[in-house]
Amino acid sequence: MCGIVGAVCQRNVYKILIEGLSRLEYRGYDSAGLSILDQNQTLQTRKTVGKVADLQALCGTDPVAGTTGIAHTRWATHGQPNSINSHPHVSAGVSVVHNGIIENHDALRDELRQSGYVFVSDTDSEVVAHLVRSYLDTENDLQAAVAKAISRLEGAYALGVMSDKYPGLLVGARSGSPLVLGVGIDENFIASDQMAL
Ligand code: GLU
Repeated sequence: MCGIVGAVCQRNVYKILIEGLSRLEYRGYDSAGLSILDQNQTLQTRKTVGKVADLQALCGTDPVAGTTGIAHTRWATHGQPNSINSHPHVSAGVSVVHNGIIENHDALRDELRQSGYVFVSDTDSEVVAHLVRSYLDTENDLQAAVAKAISRLEGAYALGVMSDKYPGLLVGARSGSPLVLGVGIDENFIASDQMAL
């Protein structure tokens, strides 16, 4: 179980996310990644095995900027440490970071596959991205879609969820894993550990 940082701001969140992840490095991790909604409301995701410095290097060659974003440091429990298994996991514009373990991921994956969802990673976490997306199609409300998705989850989770259809909105949820809220002036944050704030 490792690190989550998320931010909705009036300013570019990139540096805030990197700084937050750096402050969570003491927990140990094997990979790092982030998603930011850019000025065209396109979801930009960068992830890599290795350190936060490697993620910074990746974003140095392929920059990303925007005012809504989530970031993650992963300690692999399901699937090898590699860039595909790194978080965030994305399903058609829905981006999810997850700390913890989804115990019923096999059953959920089978169900989602039967509905046509394609999995690219070996993680338990990817089911959450597809589950939120599937409920978003019927709910048309990100918060309601996340609420429905978490009602299906067994296990421990802290989640940060965003969608390209909902700029300026970040949904956090937790059960059995920590997640704190930072409420600022015209900008708000989530993190798995107050150190990040
Ligand atoms: N179980 C998830 C994975 O293996 C999350 C691990 C974590 O908490 O960093 O990707």
